[in-house]
Amino acid sequence: MDTDIDYNRSFRDRTARTARESIELMSTNTLVMKFGGSSVGTTTALTQVLSIVLHEQPRWKRLLLVVSALDGVTDALLEAAHLAQLSNRRGYRRITATLRTRHLALVEKLPLGSNERNALQADIDRLLFDMLNICQTISDNTADPMTPDTIDAIIGVGERLATRIVAALLRQNNVRGVAIDTTELIVTDDVYGNATPNMTLTKNRIDTNLIPMLDRQIVPVLTGFIAGTQSGKPTTLGRGGSDYTASILSVCVNADEVWIWSDVDGIMSADPREIQEARVIPELSYHEMAELAFFGARVLHSRMVIPLREHNIPLRIKNVFKPQLVGTLVYQRLLNQQAIKAITAIQGISLQAPWSGSLVKISSLLDETLLSTVGIHADVSFSVQSSSATFLCVIIPTSAGPDAVHIVKNTLEARLSEKPEFQGWTAQPVSVITVIGAELNGNPQWSAQILGRLSSIKLLAVAQSPAECSFSVIVDPKDTEHTLTQLHPLTMQSTKSTR
Ligand code: ASP
Ligand code: MG
Repeated sequence: MDTDIDYNRSFRDRTARTARESIELMSTNTLVMKFGGSSVGTTTALTQVLSIVLHEQPRWKRLLLVVSALDGVTDALLEAAHLAQLSNRRGYRRITATLRTRHLALVEKLPLGSNERNALQADIDRLLFDMLNICQTISDNTADPMTPDTIDAIIGVGERLATRIVAALLRQNNVRGVAIDTTELIVTDDVYGNATPNMTLTKNRIDTNLIPMLDRQIVPVLTGFIAGTQSGKPTTLGRGGSDYTASILSVCVNADEVWIWSDVDGIMSADPREIQEARVIPELSYHEMAELAFFGARVLHSRMVIPLREHNIPLRIKNVFKPQLVGTLVYQRLLNQQAIKAITAIQGISLQAPWSGSLVKISSLLDETLLSTVGIHADVSFSVQSSSATFLCVIIPTSAGPDAVHIVKNTLEARLSEKPEFQGWTAQPVSVITVIGAELNGNPQWSAQILGRLSSIKLLAVAQSPAECSFSVIVDPKDTEHTLTQLHPLTMQSTKSTR
């Protein structure tokens, strides 16, 4: 195994500390590393994970790992849950069988001793058998509609499978890896599908159950994404929620750093699928990162940054296949860095009416619809009124899943047509394009430059955020690419002028 990779330009190395200070730091520090679905899905990826853990373990006093389900597994589990509701036995059984084959094939190819391998195979079978039982129960009771809590009980299996595989691989290589389910460790409310942790209760459970393990040099391999209510019912933290798990744990164990490993080189100045010239951004402040995640950068779960900012825990985003690259470092506000860093795009829904007036009723309709369809509150919204028209727009976070916009639009339309008081309102998908950079508001030149580049595009609305580092324009979805292409050169320009 190649463990002599030189990617140790970590945050602490970049800050000029004396050698003595560094040694002291090493004996007290804690690192949380989260590995995403693409970094645990193949033997090549798992070999990288092992190599990274073997490299980092001697450098940190405490090491915690958070693992996502293998790529595509959560989607497959969601589909199984829906097929169970339709009593499509053959359908959910076929999915379970495919998942079993995929996990067992992966285990077969890993360099494991026969004891580890046999135990792991038995674990995989048991977990999938339990999940199949839940599907069976749903399928038999079609009279009761499937509730979101049942879905959460099914879709958490992907993470539980993945942690077992990683922990076995560590043990085989003399690291004391132990797979841990976070259902009884991270305590949340009961908003199934998009739960929010109770940090006090979670910290208590972690102090009692996890800290003693860390003190015994165990490397816990924790399930991302899943959590549980106070009474132990499984919940999930929203799609892509493993990042959030890493952030919750980092706060509770008082981590010195958290590293998110995926298959991209870092946070990019735009989505490289849309903009070829997109580049890695070396450093971002927490504010900028939070806005980026909020407004659509798919690399991170949008809720993970705030707890890190509150506790000043540096975050690094790295590529598991190229650990020698520094990636992106996110930490406290950077000084003298007035610059445009990135351009993002995210889908939203707009509501328009040919009159103006109170927004109370329509806002609560919007909020109720979002909560009942995709489990989120309409808290990210733009509204503009003139004497004779109203425009409202709400962002649909990527964590709500790929079909969310469609589902919300259809439900909204149905509800608007039900009551005469909403006559005239129309709902439409829109695109929210956001320019992110420190102190955008402090420099009116930036807004002029942004708008100057959009003279050929019809803007439905414009908004400058109070957080001082984002400026959004709302456009028709068909103008998304053109808007991004027009704005991206601003990131290059400001990089040149500030470095
Ligand atoms: N496996 C979950 C998902 O696909 C959580 C995650 O990947 O972070 O959403
Ligand atoms: Mg992710």
